Amino acid sequence: MLRFEHVSKTYKGGKKAVNDLNLNIERGEFICFIGPSGCGKTTTMKMINRLIEPTEGKIFINDKDIMQEDPVTLRRSIGYVIQQIGLMPHMTIRDNIVLVPKLLKWPEERKNERAKELIKLVDLPEEYLDRYPYELSGGQQQRIGVLRALAAEQNLILMDEPFGALDPITRDSLQEEFKNLQQELGKTIIFVTHDMDEAIKLADRIVIMRAGEVVQFDTPDEILRNPADAFVEDFIGKDRLIQAQPNVTQVGQIMNRAPVSITVDKSLQAAIQVMKEKRVDTLLVVDEQNILKGFIDVEQIDKNRRTATSVVDILERNVFYVQKDTLLRDTVQRILKRGYKYVPVVDEGKHLVGIVTRASLVDMVYDSIWGEEEEEADANKQEVESPLHEAENSQEGN
Ligand code: ADP
Ligand code: MG
Repeated sequence: MLRFEHVSKTYKGGKKAVNDLNLNIERGEFICFIGPSGCGKTTTMKMINRLIEPTEGKIFINDKDIMQEDPVTLRRSIGYVIQQIGLMPHMTIRDNIVLVPKLLKWPEERKNERAKELIKLVDLPEEYLDRYPYELSGGQQQRIGVLRALAAEQNLILMDEPFGALDPITRDSLQEEFKNLQQELGKTIIFVTHDMDEAIKLADRIVIMRAGEVVQFDTPDEILRNPADAFVEDFIGKDRLIQAQPNVTQVGQIMNRAPVSITVDKSLQAAIQVMKEKRVDTLLVVDEQNILKGFIDVEQIDKNRRTATSVVDILERNVFYVQKDTLLRDTVQRILKRGYKYVPVVDEGKHLVGIVTRASLVDMVYDSIWGEEEEEADANKQEVESPLHEAENSQEGN
């Protein structure tokens, strides 16, 4: 449907905005371009409808070299949505929607039918067709902007950060709506965004660009699983990399199955003995049925050694734990953000079945996630009520 062959664009003054772009896009695909500001996304997009012409290389639409076509005809055959909505303030919503059909000299009847048909697609009442843009909210105006790109029944639609200016809730619902619309109508969409969540949500394939070049062109899944390099990893963000771990989904799958624990009826003497042996400074406490009751730590033992004799005397019952079938992605943030060195894992009956350590998390994610999270955790330490995080000599490796 759309093919780039060795396409480059050098602006006057020598700035190489796009460098040797080679892409093959299929009919009906939803393609997102993403990358840092200035990497060449808008330039790439505008070359497709010849608002900008390449310095080198060729672009084909349906195997036809676009340079062989009349630029105006070409432009009208391609839908185009820009960030600033771009509705004409002095025109009614109807006239805004059918701007291109009008230029294409559709008969009045057909234009009106089309406008009615379209406004239904985005769940706005037909009366709105007679209103002016300022009478609509930002989100409603953006919907109209999208409709305008669909109006002339173009099969190829270019969208340059179309939802960028919207509030998150409106953006969310418009994304949803638009994705459904696209699938229903079978359009090919080229969509520029700088929001990775948006790209993952919408795209069949994502083009990641840096400095005018394609770094990776693949499905969201593949990019999450196999980021091409550190730049892509960085761009995706560490949270998403953790979430994308394909086989490690539940806490139970990565936990350490031999947590160090003691029963609630034991003496502090015995507790100290276990701590020494296992080289840990906190102990999880369970009852005879191995149900998690809390924890004790060496500091509390020390503070209370004159009055307390048994584990139960200094038991801290307020303990943060997770269920073993909890999805990892839902716990990772809590564990890292709260600064816990480890977190006990329980089954449905609250039986202690394991612990998840920061070390076990780090084993499965990229080294790059670490530094920053560690600092965040340190900064949060003071606010943490549970002293579990202080287990410097934690139970890892036992
Ligand atoms: P993006 O849309 O990814 O933010 P652009 O395609 O707008 O990036 O720009 C790519 C690069 O080309 C940037 O360095 C930008 O400054 C430069 N550029 C864009 N338009 C022009 C222009 N008309 N003249 C000179 N340089 C430009
Ligand atoms: Mg841009």
